[in-house]
Amino acid sequence: MTSPRSLAVLGATGSIGTSTLDLVARYPELFRVEALSAQRNVTKLVELAVRFRAPFVAIADHRSYPALKDAIGTKMGCAIECAAGPDAVVEAARRSSDLVMSAVTGLAGLRPTMAAIKRGASVLLANKESLVCAGALMTAALRQSGAALLPVDSEHNAIFQVFEQKGRDKVHSLVLTASGGPFRGWSLAQMQGVTAAQALAHPNWTMGKKITIDSATMMNKGLELIEAAYLFDMPVDKIDVVVHPQSIVHSMVNYVDGSVLAQLGQPDMRIPISYALGWPERLHTPVDPICLAHLGQLTFEKPDEKSFPALALARQALQAGGAAPVVLNAANEVAVAAFLNKKIPFLSIATSVTDALAAMGGDDACADIDDVIALDSAVRKRVQNFIKT
Ligand code: NDP
Ligand code: MG
Repeated sequence: MTSPRSLAVLGATGSIGTSTLDLVARYPELFRVEALSAQRNVTKLVELAVRFRAPFVAIADHRSYPALKDAIGTKMGCAIECAAGPDAVVEAARRSSDLVMSAVTGLAGLRPTMAAIKRGASVLLANKESLVCAGALMTAALRQSGAALLPVDSEHNAIFQVFEQKGRDKVHSLVLTASGGPFRGWSLAQMQGVTAAQALAHPNWTMGKKITIDSATMMNKGLELIEAAYLFDMPVDKIDVVVHPQSIVHSMVNYVDGSVLAQLGQPDMRIPISYALGWPERLHTPVDPICLAHLGQLTFEKPDEKSFPALALARQALQAGGAAPVVLNAANEVAVAAFLNKKIPFLSIATSVTDALAAMGGDDACADIDDVIALDSAVRKRVQNFIKT
């Protein structure tokens, strides 16, 4: 890389956003921050904007705008433009950065991610929910604009690293690894009364709350199955999932000659983020290499789809096609929030998704982003009612 590349970080105050900026801080000669966004964490957003000299910041929550303006006003000598609302996040994606890190949680990431794709930016995709819900639309937009979509999700980043694009007809299948989450090996009966604190105690990864709950239900792996199908254009029957509790092997590609290529490393998101940031070159990270002799054993087991029905639900949604993944994702987002707010028990997350898919999963594919968002809203309403009753 010769001149610094400019970067917008959407979801800058979150887990992925923080890891991204940790890397950017190590490479001031390679990256320049153009825009940052958050939902409502004004203090951290302003601190980051000052530290990285971001010319533009967006806060999604309108109510946080006065606090944002006040906080920026106190920073003498900093010319930071700011705006509020979901459109402001889209504006952050539209500004002329070379790279856009898409790390908002949930479908809220869709409009800004699409805006970045449409203007031809290189999009570093952590926000899997947008690809799950609008995979076909995003793929078409990528083709049209020529933008690059670089997977940040550790499994997909691993596959991206070992996927031989030129010989893609020699790819037999993909294998996504899953940690199994905090309840690996538990029965449905054992999971009956688990608390949010238990579900948030992920054994290997420190992440935002929503994805941590998704890991506990294994819906995260379900979403990743759909994500992999779109990213690598693979049919559902060619994507396997294996539980690997140590989270060292981040995923694998099986080739027709019997070779298996995998990417291994510490469970630290700075590895996949750095790969996406530096691509097509590799960057140094502060992460130590793994020592296999020290680790001793790496183990693998079949996922228990009886105790973790989310995986089968996602597969079913992918097979059903059309708008089913939108229904799956919207129902899951509402149910996860309800569980975190102590409105429903842990196992009702999967029940809520099952109900929504049965009632609304058969629609035709969404024609455009507005269709996706309209269906997402309708499903949210239904699931909120289902939860109330
Ligand atoms: P966090 O909850 O830690 O951070 C989410 C970020 O998005 C925050 O900056 C938050 O702002 C902002 N945000 C939340 N809701 C909205 C909204 N409605 N509109 C605009 N901005 C919003 O999440 P993670 O960083 O863990 O995850 C982000 C995405 O990356 C998710 O899609 C997740 O699935 C994916 N991912 C995460 C991994 C991880 O290791 N964390 C691994 C692989 C994928 P604020 O701080 O103000 O609330
Ligand atoms: Mg992942």
